[in-house]
Amino acid sequence: MQAFEALESNVRFYSRSLPAVFSRARGSVMETEDGREVVDFLSGAGALNYGHNNSEIKAVVTEYLRSDAVVHGLDMATPAKREFMETFSSVILRERGLQYRFQFTGPTGANSVEAALKLARKATGRQNVISFTHGFHGLSLGAIAATSKRAFRTASGMSLSGVTFMPYDGYLEPAVDTADYMGKLLMDESSGIDRPAAILVETVQGEGGINVARKEWLQSIQAIAKNVGALFIVDDIQMGCGRTGEFFSFEFAGLSPDIVVLSKSLSGYGLPLSMLLLKERYDAWRPGEHTGTFRGNNLALVAATAAINIYWRSRSFSQEVQRMGEIMRLRLEAIASEYGNRFAVRGRGMALGFDCQMAEIAEATTRKAFEKGLIIERCGPVGQVVKFLPALTIDFETLDRGLQVFEDSLAETLKTLRSW
Ligand SMILES: *Cc1c(COP(=O)(O)O)cnc(C)c1O
Repeated sequence: MQAFEALESNVRFYSRSLPAVFSRARGSVMETEDGREVVDFLSGAGALNYGHNNSEIKAVVTEYLRSDAVVHGLDMATPAKREFMETFSSVILRERGLQYRFQFTGPTGANSVEAALKLARKATGRQNVISFTHGFHGLSLGAIAATSKRAFRTASGMSLSGVTFMPYDGYLEPAVDTADYMGKLLMDESSGIDRPAAILVETVQGEGGINVARKEWLQSIQAIAKNVGALFIVDDIQMGCGRTGEFFSFEFAGLSPDIVVLSKSLSGYGLPLSMLLLKERYDAWRPGEHTGTFRGNNLALVAATAAINIYWRSRSFSQEVQRMGEIMRLRLEAIASEYGNRFAVRGRGMALGFDCQMAEIAEATTRKAFEKGLIIERCGPVGQVVKFLPALTIDFETLDRGLQVFEDSLAETLKTLRSW
């Protein structure tokens, strides 16, 4: 690790909490330079839903490279892009009764969020955007403005504007429906809140602590957006591409967002790829108004098409994700109940959070887990929630192995920590 400490900027993050040099990876197991094997429950923060170096997707990627097909072509038309759009339209969108245009943005999730907010502002002629407490949307200026965490906002070094934060579902006491509260403020001509261009929401807040919004709440938010003439934007960067059990995380609520933002697992192989799905009537862009050198990278598009062909042509993958998610949930709930339900388990599909209530417990548990062979991250406002994001393709034995490491690590932590 010395080279990294000496040469790499202080900004490095994961190499601190996961102090090892990772050399190889396959499926849900990563291998360190010194030959240790660790189970991966972080999955590139949700960018590896189909596992590391997925062999079926890899075959398509390597064949593409071998054939001298176009890898970089700005946003020129290529067979790879045509095939991706046609496959995505027929297999994912048409099956779900959805119709969208594709906008390929720069390769980061943050850039696609920027594009979504710019487009909403352009299409409505309004500036204000509604975002939610504990929301995370990326770290470029426009996206940070819609991101709630104070540390990120401060690090921007700018006064961030153009966003009003509202309480997410469950933020206040259980009896308070925060959608009602927001609806009242936005419909009131004298509430002090500017008319919004968009309402930007995650259906499950990944970085914010695996906070799950209810179906009814999401439906109310969509209805409010419609009533006030704002675009309804779902940031599905982390929870999309099957993470919650369905391709889009909003399918369970029957939503029809005006813009959907996708990135992370979209390419299926950990290659950078981000895009917006937007309703045609809001396609207010002039040519080239949001450009970027690395848009719709062809290698990533080929991988993304392969992932759709392999996993999404039948219902069975989705059913399997829901089944494995249920196994995880039951196991985590059993662990929580061993401690008198002092801890909470939340999530949908294979995105689960174990709320340790105290950051100290979550921190020590994840550190011990790594020593015992499990990569697992924390989330939530102070890092008090342990976040389970195994690959959707994980086999039962590896899943069980990782859950056992978590259970043992938590037990050891609680034995040594006095304060809880
Ligand atoms: C990761 C993430 C982003 C930002 O994506 P980057 O590729 O890191 O810029 C935005 N929104 C959500 C919900 C995310 O999980």
